[in-house]
Amino acid sequence: MDENLLLDLLNTTPVVDGSPTDELADAAAGLRWLTAHDQPATADEWRALIAARSVLQEIVRSVDPTAADPAAPSQEAGVASQEAGVASQEAGVASQEAGVASLSAFLDGVAYRPEPGPDGLDWVLDLPEGRSAAARAVLAWDALRTKRPGRLRACANPACRLFLVDHSKANSARWCSMAACGNRMKARRHYQRNRGGSE
Ligand SMILES: [Zn+2]
Repeated sequence: MDENLLLDLLNTTPVVDGSPTDELADAAAGLRWLTAHDQPATADEWRALIAARSVLQEIVRSVDPTAADPAAPSQEAGVASQEAGVASQEAGVASQEAGVASLSAFLDGVAYRPEPGPDGLDWVLDLPEGRSAAARAVLAWDALRTKRPGRLRACANPACRLFLVDHSKANSARWCSMAACGNRMKARRHYQRNRGGSE
C-alpha cells in the first residue's frame, strides 16, 4: 500500500509562514518529487498527480471528522468540530460524492492481472502510462478508507492544510504534529478559556 506516497502527496500544499505553498507548483519540482518517490518522472505524471491531489484533498477534507468515530474526539477538538460538523455535514456528503465520482479520471487502464509465480498466482498491478503515480495515490486512498476507516484526516488546526494518518490505538490524533499544531491549538484554547472568550 502506497500510504507514504499518498500522505506525502496530500501534504505538498503546506502553509509556510502563514502563506499557502505548493511543493509541486512547477514541472521541475514535480519531477523531483516523482523521482524521490520512485515514480516515473514525466510531465504527464506530474500533471495527473496534481489533478489527483486536488480531488483527494477535497474528499478527505469533506469527511466530517466526528462522523468517523464519534467516541474518539478529544473534548477540545470535539466541541469546535461538532458545531462546525453539524453545519457542514450535509454539504460534506455532497462534495464527497462528487469528489469520489471524479476519481474515475485516474482509474482508466488500472487493473490487477494474475501471473504464475513460484508457488501460485502473483497479482501484478497494471498502471496507465503517464498516470501511474496518480493512480497509486488513488488506490492507496481507497485501501486506507477500507482497511483503516476514518484514520486519514485533515489536521484539526484550521490554519493548517496538512493531513495525517492516525496510527494511535485510541484513534485520537487530531493534529499533523503535536509540535507544529497541537501545542499551538492547546495554547490558543487555554488563552480563550481564561479570558472567557468562546470560539
Ligand atoms: Zn497541522
